[in-house]
Amino acid sequence: MSGFGCEQCGANLKFQPGTTALKCPYCGYLNPIPETALGRIREHDYQDFLERAQATEQLVEVITVKCPSCAAETTFDPNVSSSNCPFCSTGLVQTTQSQKQIKPEAVLPFQVGRKEALGAFRTWLGSLWFAPNKLQKAARHEEELNGVYLPFWTYDTQTTTHYTGRRGEYYYETQYVTVRDSNGNTRQEARQVQKIHWYPASGTVFNAFDDVLVCASDTLPVRHTENLEPWDLSALIPYQDAFLQGFRAESYHISLEEGLEQAKRRMHPIIEATICRDIGGDVQDVTSTRTQYQNITFKHILLPLWISAYRYSGRVYRFVVNGRSGEVQGERPYSWVKITFAIIACISFATLLYFLFSYR
Ligand SMILES: [Zn+2]
Ligand SMILES: [Zn+2]
Repeated sequence: MSGFGCEQCGANLKFQPGTTALKCPYCGYLNPIPETALGRIREHDYQDFLERAQATEQLVEVITVKCPSCAAETTFDPNVSSSNCPFCSTGLVQTTQSQKQIKPEAVLPFQVGRKEALGAFRTWLGSLWFAPNKLQKAARHEEELNGVYLPFWTYDTQTTTHYTGRRGEYYYETQYVTVRDSNGNTRQEARQVQKIHWYPASGTVFNAFDDVLVCASDTLPVRHTENLEPWDLSALIPYQDAFLQGFRAESYHISLEEGLEQAKRRMHPIIEATICRDIGGDVQDVTSTRTQYQNITFKHILLPLWISAYRYSGRVYRFVVNGRSGEVQGERPYSWVKITFAIIACISFATLLYFLFSYR
């Protein structure tokens, strides 16, 4: 990565969340990021890209540091203050490696700043019962929070799906049942029972997908990355190295092809809903589908995340904040010491009440 020096004093700059400028940590001068000449986000043709495989102009060399514990590979930036892995808080030995990666096409720059993210972290912690003290301590230190750009793929495609299935229509049958009243007399009672007539169904449906999002990293559990949605993808801007200054960016581990398979899994329920509407009736049963994906295009994008990883009793717990919306996701440990004390306190209080009321 080329140098980003302050226009005023030449010091190394950091991207300032919520702006489109780099801030000088020494003189405070805001250095605007120039809009690129080719300020347009392009979708890449998937097939074409794979055929020209490693088309050199689409690849870029990145210098990364690999975490020995969780295997996350993040960009090496001398401006990043923390030398711990943002995903598992293991100390990173700064042995860098170089690798070829597909160039990011676009980025959502940080909107939420470190202070704001830390505030969200504290509020979240405050809402926790029986959290270990170590966790409370972590929230006091700004440097426990790391800004990371996570790699994602987005896919666009039009689908044609041939399906077979069944359409179910309700009808009602009158059934007579024997009921016994309280006097022990029995009588016949008519009841309406719902039944389904099934009819064979088959057909073809079409869907169009825009920006199906797949996380290109498996460092964070899927429930975190998916729960952080939605992202304001309409605000994506063409990638520039400047937006990464002062932050780490994780390299993708999930390939373009694997990402497409995951995208297909995300599209499937939507296709199935279209099929059900096409079948009609009261209930539907889809037995087989065959989908063709046309005009697949993709983008490699980077999305911003604040993350704090803490170890407690040998396990890693993480707290993550969407760097755009401020939305919070977290895993939490319970302090058994605190829980035990709370139980003891409750029992003592109950015992005290018992004695107070029984010796009046
Ligand atoms: Zn400066
Ligand atoms: Zn790690």
